[in-house]
Amino acid sequence: MRDVVTRFAPSPTGRLHLGHAYSAVLAHDLARASGGRFLLRIEDIDGTRSRPEHVDAILADLAWLGLEWDGPVLFQSTREDAYAAALARLRAMGLLYPCFCTRAEIAASQSAPHGPEPVYPGTCRALPEAERTARITAGVPHAWRLDMARAVATADTDLMWTDAIAGPVRADPLAQGDVVLARKDALASYHLAVTVDDAAHGVTHVVRGADLFAATDVHRLLQALLGLPTPLYHHHALLVGPDGQRLAKRNDAPTLESVRLRGEDGRALADRLRAGGAGIGIAPQSA
Ligand code: GLU
Repeated sequence: MRDVVTRFAPSPTGRLHLGHAYSAVLAHDLARASGGRFLLRIEDIDGTRSRPEHVDAILADLAWLGLEWDGPVLFQSTREDAYAAALARLRAMGLLYPCFCTRAEIAASQSAPHGPEPVYPGTCRALPEAERTARITAGVPHAWRLDMARAVATADTDLMWTDAIAGPVRADPLAQGDVVLARKDALASYHLAVTVDDAAHGVTHVVRGADLFAATDVHRLLQALLGLPTPLYHHHALLVGPDGQRLAKRNDAPTLESVRLRGEDGRALADRLRAGGAGIGIAPQSA
């Protein structure tokens, strides 16, 4: 059996809240339970929204919770070459196309409101090659999207992955449409960076919130296309407050920093999270 390697992978676009702490505690403890390694990866691919002061707060929060990570802090902002290599490989396989659509255009094309990321209607997939070249040469900003139908056909394998709680899952990446792999405004998309890095960092167990469950279908496909191993996944329930609302940033959940600066005991808080939020008015959301 490979040594267990887990990671906590926050995006430094805001302060952490209790939901992040729960994820970090679970990932940390899973590694420690088997003498494995717990990595800290700062997902700062988004240069406009990532802030150094959020990174500082993340490091201070984790130390306060008593969670020590192994090795240096890993930064996605240093991994441009690795993402470029993966994109080049997918492009050479004929699986990427440039997309010139703006967010507003994509939103306008939706007949009904979707989740936070609408499924792309495929507008730019049909652009003639000459038109693509002309727009790129003219400097029109563009993302690169995965031609999902073609990618699934190319992978030509049973896209199975295993969740520690849900069991075996048959991936259905087609449901997510032509996802972006290279953004207009960032080094790579979340899907590409996380898949490339989990493999490069030897992560064997991906511990993260259930809100990313469906994203794993895309990651499993990318693993098949790029010849990368598939880790075991552990999507944990999201924490909800007394009102049943998820502790997401948008619900004004208290930040860990605010609790830390109030002088509360971080290690005791981590223990309460280990007990599923007992005594602090939060609980994992029931399925
Ligand atoms: N960076 C992502 C986030 O903060 C998590 C990535 C992951 O765990 O796969 O939501």
